Amino acid sequence: PSFFAAIPPAPADGILKLSVLSKADANPSKVDLGVGAYRTDDGQPWVLPVVQEAERRLASEPSANHEYLAVGGLPALTSGAQKLIFGADSPALAEGRVYTIQTISGTGANMVGAVFLKQFKPQRDAAIYISRPTWGNHRSLFQTAGHEVREYRYCNYESLDLDIDGMLADLRAAPPSQVVVLHACAHNPTGIDPTEAQWEAIADVMAERGHLPFFDCAYQGFATGDVDRDAFAIRLFAARGFELLVAESFAKNMGLYGERTGCLHVVVANAEQLPAVSSQLNRVSRATISTASAYGAKIAGTVLQDPALYREWLDNMQTMSARIKAMRAALRSRLEALHTPGDWSHVTSQIGMFSFTGLSTTQVAALRDQYHLYMTDDGRISVAGLNSHNVDYVARAIDAVVR
Ligand code: PMP
Repeated sequence: PSFFAAIPPAPADGILKLSVLSKADANPSKVDLGVGAYRTDDGQPWVLPVVQEAERRLASEPSANHEYLAVGGLPALTSGAQKLIFGADSPALAEGRVYTIQTISGTGANMVGAVFLKQFKPQRDAAIYISRPTWGNHRSLFQTAGHEVREYRYCNYESLDLDIDGMLADLRAAPPSQVVVLHACAHNPTGIDPTEAQWEAIADVMAERGHLPFFDCAYQGFATGDVDRDAFAIRLFAARGFELLVAESFAKNMGLYGERTGCLHVVVANAEQLPAVSSQLNRVSRATISTASAYGAKIAGTVLQDPALYREWLDNMQTMSARIKAMRAALRSRLEALHTPGDWSHVTSQIGMFSFTGLSTTQVAALRDQYHLYMTDDGRISVAGLNSHNVDYVARAIDAVVR
């Protein structure tokens, strides 16, 4: 008899399954629109020039070593990340009401927050509310940390824009003092973000109901090319006096995917609460990862602390977001030129890495089986997978399956 005999296999992860299928497909027309990682116009991964420069500097430091970081992480990273998220002139920072701990990228930031909240949530039976739909890992992550997970409406699947009325109604109908996960910008998988006025309305309901905002910020600067614009929602909530959490990832905006570089920020109402909160976060992190990864943190810390490198980084993000916006425009204009049935304006109104195309599961399967075009079953494409060499082909394939 085995201890493990009764364990059923875990449900397949859609994205990982897709990437296996796509890798196995040797057809030269193949287009991989599954993977959530930036690609150049030649379909290659991009090491940001500013990251290359930071790596050169790190390599030439005579005292370079592989020692452990402190439990809180690398101060060059955590202090730079705070200013990036909240703004250098943030009152919460000036008042000493923010603690930042380095994490294993955005996933680890979500997880440290999840484990912390399991013990210290606003009230004992509070649930975690996630958007429908959301990043595929949110539900699993919060459930793994022991939370009950519920959904609030987010996407209007007919018009492919924000179901703001449904969202506000669900947040209003929830019991008081729940935890609400909000995508700070470039919502994954839909690419649909609230407008500034809609964020105000969301903040009104959150305040009315006493909910705790937990921002997931995986695309700051990558969405619009402007780090301040992409932090609008977080800064609005902070300015309105909310206590909140922010899970921040440097995977996309610095291209540090596999280096696992990120931070969790917690804003508390009074600076006196910070020693207790920070020590508990350190304890959770120590128990789960002991200390975070050093190499990506040194790169990001170098970029964030050096004014010239920081400016170069803003340029590099512009390059990525501009190429993605250009590909959105190219796809839309080709579909419109082909008179492909349907309204394709959402391709350019959506933002960030992903576009929710509205294609059905059957159409997605046909694109995969007949055209070697890979996207998730929900019709989400990673716009970063489009380039000047394949966008015509992609538009013609979509046109063919939609007719
Ligand atoms: N949250 C969201 C919404 C994401 O899209 C991602 C990246 N796919 C993450 C968190 C975490 O990514 P990472 O752990 O690579 O930073």
